[in-house]
Amino acid sequence: MKAVKKVLVAALALAMAACVFSGCTRQTGLHADLTLMENESIDKSLPRDGRDGWYTVFVDDFDRETLNDSTAIGQLRNADGTPGETITTDIWTYSPHDVRWETQTGSADQTSYWCPEMVTLRDGKVEIKAYETQDHTCDSCPKNGRFSGGIETRKINEDGSSTQLFSQAYGYFEATVKFPDADGLWSAFWLQSVNQNNPSHQGLDGTEIDVYESAFQRNRTWMGHALLWDGYGSFAKVDDAILDTGKDLYDGYHTFALKWTPEYYVWYVDGVATWASMGGGVAKVPEFLRLTVEMDAGDGWGPHGQKIGKFDSNAQPVFYVEQVKVMQNLNYQQYILEDGQFPYNVQENG
Ligand SMILES: [Zn+2]
Repeated sequence: MKAVKKVLVAALALAMAACVFSGCTRQTGLHADLTLMENESIDKSLPRDGRDGWYTVFVDDFDRETLNDSTAIGQLRNADGTPGETITTDIWTYSPHDVRWETQTGSADQTSYWCPEMVTLRDGKVEIKAYETQDHTCDSCPKNGRFSGGIETRKINEDGSSTQLFSQAYGYFEATVKFPDADGLWSAFWLQSVNQNNPSHQGLDGTEIDVYESAFQRNRTWMGHALLWDGYGSFAKVDDAILDTGKDLYDGYHTFALKWTPEYYVWYVDGVATWASMGGGVAKVPEFLRLTVEMDAGDGWGPHGQKIGKFDSNAQPVFYVEQVKVMQNLNYQQYILEDGQFPYNVQENG
């Protein structure tokens, strides 16, 4: 049963998006429920290594030629605080070959794909390109289409099962990035669980956590954060916020972060807390990391109900990832649950 479930989850995971709002026909404006942010019991401070149980799991500067080169980048701690397994850069893989979005207009040129060849390491950064072409030269992809890619810490195996190269429940997750600055695409830093498509158990068994999605090229100071749980079908639930940060987030590098405690989530932009939520009841299981670029498939709509425009066939925007940092808190570890503690109820999957 478990093997069947894993295959199913992997197949569905390939077909799903960073946000169910894509294709939405209504523009969503600024909105954020700040009730929790204003609650004094919420700790909105940034974690500090060695304080209050916090420790650094890894800091990856991508200062190398290849995505992985077995460099030690950090060390896990055991529940008693003693040093545990060493983390190496082999935690990363390319987002797998996939049709990301079928064409919305019938024109094959507008179907968008993920392809590992769109990702390179250069000058200490991960570069993820995006382009439209009639001459894509990869054995697995068609020649025509829109191509982008991503990196993540969950590997899809040849038999369809998946392996989490790195996953963590709770802690602090931070990425320093430079957005691709063009119409018709968005970058995102998000966490996801292998249980994402299970419509039972609210978000406790896994919640898509969108630390950020750069869907606001037409409102360049805006930022969106989101939680999605109970699958992507008729049981799907969403909690999100769109905020005005007051600065052009497409200008230079910016740092986006999430603090995930057993009780709530807090989001940060450049070290400033922007939003907090308990949406879905807060996930209890380890989740993997994704840094991706997705492209419009002809309808001109992106996540958060945003009109992102059509991708310009002459554009070649690049998403730069400069650093990813993960921390954990010894006090949270006792609350971690395993995927197997949440049975998959197929009958509920309408
Ligand atoms: Zn390809």
